[in-house]
Amino acid sequence: MTGRPRRMLADVVQAAVDARVETVARGPCPRCGADTVAARTPDRVAAVDVRADPTPLDPVAEILARLDGRLTWCLTTGEHTGDRIRWRGTEHIAAGRCTHTVLADHRCRPRPVQGVLL
Ligand SMILES: [Zn+2]
Ligand SMILES: [Zn+2]
Repeated sequence: MTGRPRRMLADVVQAAVDARVETVARGPCPRCGADTVAARTPDRVAAVDVRADPTPLDPVAEILARLDGRLTWCLTTGEHTGDRIRWRGTEHIAAGRCTHTVLADHRCRPRPVQGVLL
C-alpha cells in the first residue's frame, strides 16, 4: 500500500490544469474591454498571471513601455505546448539573442470622456 498512484494521478491533473491556465488565451480585458492576451507564466517559483496587449513591441517601444513602468514579456510558441508568456528578465534582454515576440503588460485605457476633447 503506497499513496503513489494517487499522487501521480493528482500530478497529471495538476499538470493539465497548469497547461490550461498557461496557454495564452486572447480575449477582452474584463475592466476596459480592450483586446488582450492572458496567461499564467509557467514558472514554478513565482507564477504570474499576465494580461498583456497583443501588439508586439519593437526594441524602442519596449524601452518606452518599461520607462512607463510596464513589464514586458516574451511570447513563446510551441508546437505541443501552445503559446506561453514567459518572464523577460533584464539578462534575457541584454543577451540580445531573444527571438521571441515581445509584449507589454496591458494597462487599461482611461475611460473616454465624451465631448471634453472636442
Ligand atoms: Zn525571449
Ligand atoms: Zn483593461
